[in-house]
Amino acid sequence: MKAVVTGGAGFIGSHLCDHLVAQGHEVVVLDDLSTGSSENLVHLENTPGFRFVQGDILDRDLVHDLVAEADTVFHLAAAVGVYNIVDNPLRSLRINLHGTENVVEAAVANRVPYMVASTSEVYGKNDTDGLKEDDDRIYGSATKSRWSYAAAKGLDELVAYVHGSESGVPCVITRFFNVVGPRQTGRYGMVVPRFVEQALSGRPITVYGTGAQRRCFGSVYDVVPGLLRLMDTPEAYNRAVNLGGHEEVSIKGLADRVVELTGSNSEIVYIDYDEAYGEGYEDMQRRYPDTSLAKALVGYEPTRDLNAIID
Ligand code: NAD
Repeated sequence: MKAVVTGGAGFIGSHLCDHLVAQGHEVVVLDDLSTGSSENLVHLENTPGFRFVQGDILDRDLVHDLVAEADTVFHLAAAVGVYNIVDNPLRSLRINLHGTENVVEAAVANRVPYMVASTSEVYGKNDTDGLKEDDDRIYGSATKSRWSYAAAKGLDELVAYVHGSESGVPCVITRFFNVVGPRQTGRYGMVVPRFVEQALSGRPITVYGTGAQRRCFGSVYDVVPGLLRLMDTPEAYNRAVNLGGHEEVSIKGLADRVVELTGSNSEIVYIDYDEAYGEGYEDMQRRYPDTSLAKALVGYEPTRDLNAIID
């Protein structure tokens, strides 16, 4: 099988490439190296059947040419990371909307099964109170740049779903919840690598907000095999499936855990959201995945606890 992996030089994409190569598949990576790195693929450089193409998913012709030669497409390229999105909302929106459109159209035109990476952000704040027009707990609040990411990913799901159901070409949509592991960088705001980098360098660990907000981190070593199994499971086609972990922790608790596991002397400091991300920024207090659908479809069961993930 020949697979195209967009975003293959990124964190999750490079782990996916490792699995595909280990399974004996040919792999073509399309990545513009905007947040990814060729370092993530250096160990695959001389593998027969592996090819890296530096390019943009907004380049429709390039995407179509690569997909036309493939048997399957994994679409992970996206503008990601809170800093990146907040600093470049328009470019992020363009990449995440039109880039996905290009990939999905190419896949459907060539009748190549495809996977599209979505996100827990599509659930918005997900509280239980009534929703108002100016309430950004639903994705798509037009006045908050962070939510351009959620809105674009929500539309990506729709594009993937509509094309998949009309054409009958197999399509898998994965909603990742805070995936972490080796090769993830803290540069764009991802909290676990940022804390670990701060702890290892002895700098203060910067908790945004009160630290009471709770998250659940999934290991890339669980998520990647899970998404590969979904691609082989017809019952998983044309639906969105959550993939993540099960151990919930507060961000303050995460900072404590990182200090303990790294043996760092770093102090933990608290920074207002306004200072960290700009005025008016809000965060959701809790984000916890129900992964029972993935379990029912492919037996998905997270195997790594938080300590193993941080290690
Ligand atoms: P990442 O930044 O490591 O990977 C994204 C890759 O896409 C990078 O290598 C980047 O260079 C590439 N890219 C960006 N714009 C591109 C463009 N225009 N053309 C070609 N390549 C481009 O991030 P990741 O965490 O590995 O995320 C992979 C996918 O999973 C993304 O679609 C992201 O939205 C989704 N996701 C990740 C998480 C997570 O916790 N890591 C959570 C939810 C969703």
